[in-house]
Amino acid sequence: MSNQLRIIALDEHGIRPERISPNARKVIDRLQEAGHQAFVVGGSIRDLVLGHDPKDFDVATSATPEEVAGVFRNARLIGRRFRLAHVRFGREVIEVATFRGSGEGGDDEHRELDAGRLVRDNVWGSESEDARRRDFTINALMYDPSEAVIRDHVGGYQDLLDRRLRLIGDPATRYREDPVRLLRAVRFMVKLDLKLEPETAGPVVTMAPLLHDIPPARLFDEILKLFMSGRAWPTYQALVRSQLWEPLFPGLFDDPAHPPVLVEQAMKNTDDRVAQGKPVTPGFLFAAFLWQRVSERAEELIDQGLAPVEALAAAGEEAISAQARRVAIHRRFSTIAKEIWCMQPRFRKRRGKRALRLMSERRFRAAYDFLLLRAIEDPGLQELADWWTTIQEVDADERQRMISGPGRKRGGRARSGKRKAVH
Ligand code: ATP
Ligand code: MG
Repeated sequence: MSNQLRIIALDEHGIRPERISPNARKVIDRLQEAGHQAFVVGGSIRDLVLGHDPKDFDVATSATPEEVAGVFRNARLIGRRFRLAHVRFGREVIEVATFRGSGEGGDDEHRELDAGRLVRDNVWGSESEDARRRDFTINALMYDPSEAVIRDHVGGYQDLLDRRLRLIGDPATRYREDPVRLLRAVRFMVKLDLKLEPETAGPVVTMAPLLHDIPPARLFDEILKLFMSGRAWPTYQALVRSQLWEPLFPGLFDDPAHPPVLVEQAMKNTDDRVAQGKPVTPGFLFAAFLWQRVSERAEELIDQGLAPVEALAAAGEEAISAQARRVAIHRRFSTIAKEIWCMQPRFRKRRGKRALRLMSERRFRAAYDFLLLRAIEDPGLQELADWWTTIQEVDADERQRMISGPGRKRGGRARSGKRKAVH
């Protein structure tokens, strides 16, 4: 890794200042006019070099948060663990972070390590220190729009050209400081199609248990980024290979390398939908991840006399609260998962108005998609799934006939022997 500042000119990198959001440029101009250093930094420059459209532009500056607030009336100071300023322009918020130092020489009031883990980081530093405290070299590039140059302190530009993902500094130390970097390594590797540099890859498996120390709420944020960005299935496989899946979702599958078909297909469907620009909800994926556990437990409860919907509700509640000890699933999404589960037994009731009523429920579409996935695992459900596909496609008269006629050949009560109520 290079330690020299390398300045890369416009004719080499080709990124014109107009590619940076006008508001981020405004923030930088004003800070520079006030005598501070200010650059666009982080993921947006990485994305521009790779030819992607950045989703937001972060600014790093030598100005303290108070000084930033002095320059912008529309600035708000936020954060405790990591203090920074938000400068708001209508709907766009530009995050402005003061350069952080390495903290060596110790200023315990502002920087706190707990067993090697960074729990607070508010020691101000220089531009180059700020580049070095970032996670990967490709995330440490700084862009100065007033000169149209990239400032590279860590060799990130060459790593990007070589499509190499490399932690800055000693990998074991950097993972220990913040084990979420283990997940970020997998995320960037898969999402940006990069090779993990061998020294960066080396400690991943042995350090994976450190994820146990990360607060469930922070893991949840990271899980969303891992699974909702259009590469859920390859990300899952990479997590399993790196032994990072089990610390997040312990004991869900017998062999995580071969998860249930329903789980694999749920991730692939999510990826397809993202690719087509269709809406996706993490609630659907969580429903799939936990389904095996939930349906097995529900069967037990049904054997104890509970009705299927109640059994699924109770089993779902148990599974979600057990999982929440590792990854806090936001209530908004756990509610969707529960609705999807509890609708499953209701698909069996095809007679009369309640079939039509089911179709008009808010979660019908997701629950129906889930039924289709279940039918892949259990061919006995295919006829039922097809029936629900058909009824959505036919006209009102045909619908009436379907919900009133005796035309059902298989399935439901017609079957002999003990039939599982959920599966
Ligand atoms: P994305 O496109 O997914 O937002 P990003 O690189 O912008 O990717 P953010 O989480 O938005 O990721 O973080 C912004 C920048 O802050 C990163 O590019 C990196 O420089 C730095 N950073 C973020 N998380 C960490 C971390 N855990 N350790 C060190 N630096 C980090
Ligand atoms: Mg970002």
